[in-house]
Parts: sequence; C-alpha cells; structure tokens
Amino acid sequence: MADQEKNTWGARIKRTFTSVLPVSAQRRGQCIQCGACCKLPNVCPFLKSNGDGHIYCRIYPIRPLNCRKYPRTPSEHITADTCGFHFEDS
Ligand code: SF4
Repeated sequence: MADQEKNTWGARIKRTFTSVLPVSAQRRGQCIQCGACCKLPNVCPFLKSNGDGHIYCRIYPIRPLNCRKYPRTPSEHITADTCGFHFEDS
C-alpha cells in the first residue's frame, strides 16, 4: 500500500491508542522538523512556520504522545521520504 493511502483517520486513531506503548528499539535518527507528521491526516492547527523552511509546534512542551513518539514503529512510519528517523532491520 502506498504511503499516501495509509494517511487515514483510522491510522491516526490507531497511532493515538498505541502511543502508550514503547518506541521501537530499531528506531534511529532524529526529528529534522520537516513537519510531514504534523499533517496526518490533516494539517494540525498548532502547526507554525516561520519561513525558514522549518516547522514548529505551538504546543510543543505539551504535545500529545502520538506526536511525541512518532514514528513509534516501522508500520506507522508513513513519512519516511522526508523524516529524519529510520528503522534498522531487526
Ligand atoms: S516526519 Fe519525522 S522529521 Fe518530520 S516532523 Fe515528523 S518526526 Fe520530525
């Protein structure tokens, strides 16, 4: 399934409920503020751009777990094209 087809409210709800689980030990890298995960599936109302090409979160210190832990697993990582995180094969 193409990544765009995975960008659904169902996937968002699943990410929300499973966000209490740990982040995969295979995750490597870091957030490079591309902002792609802040648009899954709709553009977050707390998203902010200051024009330098980076995206900022207006509620960053209190952002919800599903944002805090994204991408938690390889299967939920649908922004791999631009994301600074990747997963090593186990
Ligand atoms: S998609 Fe990855 S790099 Fe981009 S904002 Fe989300 S976590 Fe950060």
